[in-house]
Amino acid sequence: MPQTDAPHDGIKFETLAVHAGRRPETATGSVAPPIYLSTTFERDAHMTPLGGHTYIRESNPMQSLLEDALFPLEGGAGALVFGSGMAAGVSLLQTLPAGAHVLLPDDAYYGWRVAAQEFLPRWGLTASFCAMDDLAAVRRAVTPATQLVFVETPSNPLLRVSDIAAIVEIARAAGARTAVDNTFATPALQRPLDLGADVAIHSVTKYFGGHSDVHGGALIFKRRDESFEKAMHVRHILGAVLAPFNAWLVLRGLRSLAVRVAAHSAHAFAVARALERHPAVSRVNYPGLPSHPGHAVAARQMSGFGGMMSFHVKAGREAAIAAVGKAKLFVRATSLGAVESLIEHRATSEGASSTTPQDLIRLSVGLEHPDDLILDLDQALR
Ligand SMILES: *Cc1c(COP(=O)(O)O)cnc(C)c1O
Repeated sequence: MPQTDAPHDGIKFETLAVHAGRRPETATGSVAPPIYLSTTFERDAHMTPLGGHTYIRESNPMQSLLEDALFPLEGGAGALVFGSGMAAGVSLLQTLPAGAHVLLPDDAYYGWRVAAQEFLPRWGLTASFCAMDDLAAVRRAVTPATQLVFVETPSNPLLRVSDIAAIVEIARAAGARTAVDNTFATPALQRPLDLGADVAIHSVTKYFGGHSDVHGGALIFKRRDESFEKAMHVRHILGAVLAPFNAWLVLRGLRSLAVRVAAHSAHAFAVARALERHPAVSRVNYPGLPSHPGHAVAARQMSGFGGMMSFHVKAGREAAIAAVGKAKLFVRATSLGAVESLIEHRATSEGASSTTPQDLIRLSVGLEHPDDLILDLDQALR
């Protein structure tokens, strides 16, 4: 499997992840970045801010440190970090003028679906949903009012794969911008901005943080344009700011992103191959498998296939729930992207509004040895 090989100014991704945004700490020589918790910032006698910041909600040193490390990883020109992945995506939606139409995937992350259905109409925006892995459906779904096409690939929890470059072309022809939720792939495996997208969206709660201990989000922009300025203004005034300590934790996590994602991908591939052969499993959704309908597109636009997968249990809903209940090593919890493997009956996690098949189990494959994970799944499915 090809590994991360996306150069930025000639530097390999692995190197960039370790060094992007690093600054020498001249006051102390500290190699690890210091944590500045201050909410307010001093000015000189002429009222000029001493360090460029005035108040935590407008800008602060921890936020700048993380943003300077983030945007080069996606090949962008600027990043904005937020208190959560939802806050990041919703802040982008809040930059749109009343009357605008947003097109989303019909299997979007449930938070996007609920936000689009419940809140967009209140803000004078309209939303509709289509199968993003069907380009003819995308062409039919854009309207003269469409200002944003929202892509999520691979999608959650079905791991459907959408062709980013082709969707960007359709969106551009309609005068719309394209934003890609790149949470599952991370820029270690997929760089939407290089494929023409305008914005990459992240829940940094997942692979960037990588240890199930920090909540945050990010928008990374191809250009520092009007949309970037508007999203910054939304954050400043509406206040979905990332806490300084959380910025520090995300920064620590992203330094090891490349090696963690490479291991997650290798382990997930082994687990997917084993599940595909398992008699209790009817189908495995993993874009790295040649049997996956989106495999060719994934192989073209990703340099690896990531640590997320889902699979269908032949005997249906109750058998799927029973298997989740019997897992010993996989931890029964929602979320993803951390060192420990997680397992969930996704429809139960999503609740009453879920559209996820009832026989589906979602896995976030962690950094344990894949042989141990395969043995655990095998005993759980008996
Ligand atoms: C978790 C997740 C989100 C939401 O992020 P939060 O940090 O939980 O707000 C959005 N998109 C995807 C694909 C996710 O997995």
